[in-house]
Amino acid sequence: MERTAVLGRLSWRFATVLEVTAETDQTHSIVLDAPDWPGHLAGQHVDVRLTADDGYQAQRSYSIASAPSDEQLVLTVERLDDGEVSPYLVDELRAGDRIELRGPVGGYFVWRPTDAVPALLVAGGSGIVPFRAMLREHGAAMSAAPIRLLYSARTFDQVIYREELLRLAARDGIDVSITLTRAQPAGWHGYTGRVDTALLRQVSWPPEEHPAVYVCGPTGFVEATANALVGLGHDPGRIRTERFGGTS
Ligand SMILES: Cc1cc2nc3c(=O)[nH]c(=O)nc-3n(C[C@H](O)[C@H](O)[C@H](O)COP(=O)(O)OP(=O)(O)OC[C@H]3O[C@@H](n4cnc5c(N)ncnc54)[C@H](O)[C@@H]3O)c2cc1C
Repeated sequence: MERTAVLGRLSWRFATVLEVTAETDQTHSIVLDAPDWPGHLAGQHVDVRLTADDGYQAQRSYSIASAPSDEQLVLTVERLDDGEVSPYLVDELRAGDRIELRGPVGGYFVWRPTDAVPALLVAGGSGIVPFRAMLREHGAAMSAAPIRLLYSARTFDQVIYREELLRLAARDGIDVSITLTRAQPAGWHGYTGRVDTALLRQVSWPPEEHPAVYVCGPTGFVEATANALVGLGHDPGRIRTERFGGTS
């Protein structure tokens, strides 16, 4: 109901692809020129609409990877091999192409620089995308709110924004923990295995500190993580979730 009401005020606009850059083998960032972009909050997403020559249309949601203060709008898309839209966005899109956008959408899964409480961000796979916007905004606004990021990826090569996250990890007030679930490179000092109660207990703020908690990724990951956090005593009302679909 709320989403319908909000979307009613939004219209489709064309954006031109300025650049496509590889984040990993399966994930590309798409830099867009979106004239008259109204601005967004870190954590919001857009709807992307593609139209084939025969008029067939497909539409999917993508989190905004750029911070509100960044000059350009960036989306980051992971290719699902059996997917309809993501293989096109990752493999076929070129500078100069135009896509349709609607947004920004969503007022719930957002982080504002005025949020002063500690924040825990838990990402699975491409669920890191909205958190990149939040972390960039945190830096741009020189926020003093402490943030802990726990990011689960299958392998080191599949860690999206790897260099940027390693730089962020060196900044005061930001802790970055990465867990690799399938394989680890020699000398890996991060965590291994899936996000579970034990890892969350180790990495997260204690519930008594009333952190704001954000969980984003595939549906199964989000549900298991949110349940584990509630089991640890976190207030369900302070856990915001964004489900990207799928079950893994
Ligand atoms: C609010 C929101 C924000 C999103 N932000 C991003 C983003 O920033 N980057 C990004 O890459 N994706 C994001 N997604 C997911 C995106 O909308 C698409 O679902 C995804 O790109 C797959 O689309 P597709 O057409 O390629 O696959 P489809 O043809 O729709 O699906 C193919 C198969 O993959 C499964 N599937 C669908 N989505 C996922 C998934 N996320 N993980 C695992 N399996 C899945 C389906 O059940 C189906 O079996 C977001 C989704 C939502 C709701």
